[in-house]
Amino acid sequence: MTNDSISVAVVEHTDDMIALRRDFHQHPELAFEETYTASVIASRLAAMDLEVRTKIGRTGVIGVLRGHRNSVNPRTIMIRADMDALPVQEANNVPYASQSPGKMHACGHDGHVAIVLTVAAILAKQRDTLSGNIIFAFQPAEERAGGAKEMIDDGALDNPKVDATIGLHLWSPFPIGTVGIKAGPIFASADEIILKVRGQGGHGAIPEQSVDPIIATAQIITALQTLVSREISPRHAAVVTIGTVHGGTAFNVIADEVDMHGTVRTYDPADYEHLMRRIPELANNIATSMRATCEFSVDVSIPPCINDAKMAEIVQRAAEATTSVTEIRADCSQTVGDDMSYFLNAVPGCYFLVGAGNVARGITATHHNASFDIDEACLPIGTEILTRAALAFLKE
Ligand SMILES: [Zn+2]
Ligand SMILES: [Zn+2]
Repeated sequence: MTNDSISVAVVEHTDDMIALRRDFHQHPELAFEETYTASVIASRLAAMDLEVRTKIGRTGVIGVLRGHRNSVNPRTIMIRADMDALPVQEANNVPYASQSPGKMHACGHDGHVAIVLTVAAILAKQRDTLSGNIIFAFQPAEERAGGAKEMIDDGALDNPKVDATIGLHLWSPFPIGTVGIKAGPIFASADEIILKVRGQGGHGAIPEQSVDPIIATAQIITALQTLVSREISPRHAAVVTIGTVHGGTAFNVIADEVDMHGTVRTYDPADYEHLMRRIPELANNIATSMRATCEFSVDVSIPPCINDAKMAEIVQRAAEATTSVTEIRADCSQTVGDDMSYFLNAVPGCYFLVGAGNVARGITATHHNASFDIDEACLPIGTEILTRAALAFLKE
């Protein structure tokens, strides 16, 4: 495909892509429940005459496009889109608002699916000139962090064996025309940590006969904040947040136990190891010094998204060739997590951000907010970059 013919194909598909995105937006489905979404994807991929595999990672779908041009060493690139929605009641008053009470595409995954289906439609028409394969992977349950791993366990990266992967996240904090691309870490690790401080309950007026877990908890929370400031290099970014604290039943009762839930975000695997070792160590040592105990556990755990330098360069060049891209930001790391990291850990890849916000049009709500929306002008931009990058990878 020439540079011009790629842009022309994207323009031709834009109306259909917007309609597709709005259909998904009206029919949001939560993690591992994406059956309607999966059925639309599967029938679209089948209509493009791709090999279609369903139930990859429970509700995931894969489409395989095999190029017809012979090559000595055909390579395979995977383009990934996540497809789940969130348990949020949509506050937008738009004609394409969610028709499912309490569920909403508040992260833009509806747009990701529409984009990758469009990339598939464009590239499927090019199969005679393609050497190598392109796998379109539609992943369930990103928000609950589990879909990517289950897809890999079900063989998403085998047959044909995947050599590299790319994917995008629409990003409302960035304006339309801006994209974020960088080598190295782009999304942080994201873990949910749980700390249970156990003491011994009793009368609030007779503390000497109790072990107060609330006092121990107060010290633990304060001390945990020293881990990032004193034990992580100031040149690295990391976050420890305690988001919830629950304990106690009455003003004059010393509680038996306190429950804390929090999150840890890091970009560097060594920082991650350090914090995940030191949080329980520090918390338990403080607890025992005050005659209590502290039990530590991890619920959700996602590694950081780390981009391969060569793949980031391919995406960078694809973005530079896309005329609707007005700014490419290399300083674009985010403290949110995304389980695209499982694919990026398995094969070299690049995950990047495509601006979807528009202040002039009032599209400013953050991701996961009930008023979240995207400027649909982001859809052709993402499509064009992914299409160019996939073609460039297979050509190299
Ligand atoms: Zn999200
Ligand atoms: Zn998301």
